[in-house]
Amino acid sequence: MSILVVGSVAFDSVETPFGKAEEVLGGSATYFSTSASYFTDVKLVAVVGTDFPDIHIEGLKSRGIDVSGLKKVPGKTFRWRGRYDYDLNQAHTLETHLNVFSSFNPEIPESYRESPFVFLANIDPELQIKVLEQVKGAKFVACDTMNFWIEGKPDALRKLLKKVDLFVINEGEAREFSGTASLVKAARKILNNGPKTLIIKRGEYGALMFNHGSVFSAPAYPLEDIFDPTGAGDSFAGGLMGYLANTGDLSEANLRRAIIFGSVMASFNVEAFSLERLNSLCLNDIKMRYSEFKRLTHFEDI
Ligand code: AMP
Repeated sequence: MSILVVGSVAFDSVETPFGKAEEVLGGSATYFSTSASYFTDVKLVAVVGTDFPDIHIEGLKSRGIDVSGLKKVPGKTFRWRGRYDYDLNQAHTLETHLNVFSSFNPEIPESYRESPFVFLANIDPELQIKVLEQVKGAKFVACDTMNFWIEGKPDALRKLLKKVDLFVINEGEAREFSGTASLVKAARKILNNGPKTLIIKRGEYGALMFNHGSVFSAPAYPLEDIFDPTGAGDSFAGGLMGYLANTGDLSEANLRRAIIFGSVMASFNVEAFSLERLNSLCLNDIKMRYSEFKRLTHFEDI
């Protein structure tokens, strides 16, 4: 089954303790769709400016991503500048230039409107709501956000949460949004806003899923070298949603598998800057790392 994703397509400038990248391809929808494209058909809706080179659009197309919903309009592409210190879980936003995103009015192409899976990647929650108003009968809707919107548009975010099945959020943002330090209490508060399932991403400590009273904890893959955590959350969501859409199975057991596929894709993404590593995978790499996750988390009964 196909996935509709709406989010940012961006130029990122990133600094980590291991290197720097200036004005490289990034954006929540870019990472998501590249990751999900290993599992299923992806239909992308976003906006870029006239400074966005066609070579990047060709790159997305070459992964089979449907870009008929990617609009190029007069103006500059969205830009984000961030820095990570040795705590790679914490992105420090230095600059956000919405540029063409500030007047973006997402129009979902007719051919996208029946997509059974919808991912509202990190953009203005008011835009995320506008997207949902245009899709009919989605089987499963998930969304992401970040502190920029939690602080800037909390009411719109609450309104959006009433309409989604799954909310994916970072640990720090879950605490900020709920005003609670305990993740279990934070999860309860967030779930009271509407979503049936909550996944809290904990960077190098893995992810927690709260689903109908059950809790699942997945580790992150213990990598020797991490170069750039940018896009880890979106690659995680891409693997997760991609696997769910591929299988069409929303059971708890399958959600757990999907979290591991999400963790696999995030672990590859952080091995290089921008989308370099994500673009160079083959299905066997993904399967092998999934098996390594299984071994990593296996222990015997007493
Ligand atoms: P993450 O997966 O959480 O590391 O997301 C990284 C991506 O989010 C970067 O490639 C940025 O271009 C994008 N991004 C950063 N800030 C925003 C924002 N306020 N709205 C939409 N996308 C953003």
